[in-house]
Amino acid sequence: MVGKMERFKHKKSLGQNFLNDKNILNKIVVGSCIEPNSLIIEIGPGSGALTEKLIETNNDVLAFEIDTRLDIYLDKLEEKCANFKVIYIDFLKANINEYLSKYKYSKLYVIANIPYYITSPIINKVIDELRPDCFTIMIQKEVGSRLMAKPNTRDYNSLSLYCQFYYDILKICDVSKSCFTPKPDVDSVVLKFNRNDNKFKVTDENDFFRFVKSAFKQKRKNLRNNLKQYDLSKIETFLNSIDKNLSYRAEQLSLNEFVSLYNFLNNEN
Ligand code: SAM
Repeated sequence: MVGKMERFKHKKSLGQNFLNDKNILNKIVVGSCIEPNSLIIEIGPGSGALTEKLIETNNDVLAFEIDTRLDIYLDKLEEKCANFKVIYIDFLKANINEYLSKYKYSKLYVIANIPYYITSPIINKVIDELRPDCFTIMIQKEVGSRLMAKPNTRDYNSLSLYCQFYYDILKICDVSKSCFTPKPDVDSVVLKFNRNDNKFKVTDENDFFRFVKSAFKQKRKNLRNNLKQYDLSKIETFLNSIDKNLSYRAEQLSLNEFVSLYNFLNNEN
């Protein structure tokens, strides 16, 4: 394997920094707390280092890899392990649910060391289309801070709210750049998303996220400026009831307050 890896030409354009640290691989698998009878989807298995550990859990593992040159590792794994299947396709363009219908499972896990240049589209697709019970991702450290960010911090934004609306997010571990081959420019973090099953309720989720995005549209501007297209007097009534006003910025409202404000705005009475 090592000899072959030396010959494999990693494509920077596909974010091909492969994990080479056994300790981190174990932390990802153990930290994901995978239950029996689960289906695990892996996005971008690369040369299969994490894949092998996932296969060892004896659950079905279904991997989506864009680079067919990696068949030299992944096809062998598929021949050897009845619980592993690899599909060579762009995860972002694939209809993943079509592949899932062939499996029987009680819980769905998505686990991925994600190429950094497509972090947001992958997170959006996983949450929108698959909504797994658990989602473990390795991402750039700074992006991780944004996803976990709390109100009144610089990192808090509409993507933080989107992820936290559906998932409780925990950090599994930090990962130094030296744990990868080739070594990337940035450090990483592994996060675990646990689905929170309807902790927050709004009448129309897509419309709610449009509202949140508008509130954050221009970070330096206050709610009065960013939410001009909505009923400002109703917004002000709500904000006053929680001792805030239209001069506040979006980053000063918690997810709970955003949900209550949106529901208040859409309440007929
Ligand atoms: N999982 C391996 C590991 O941890 O060592 C490889 C991770 S590497 C950061 C990202 C992997 O995602 C590469 O194998 C790359 O070819 C693959 N990839 C990149 N874009 C993809 C896409 N749109 N769909 C599926 N796989 C993709």
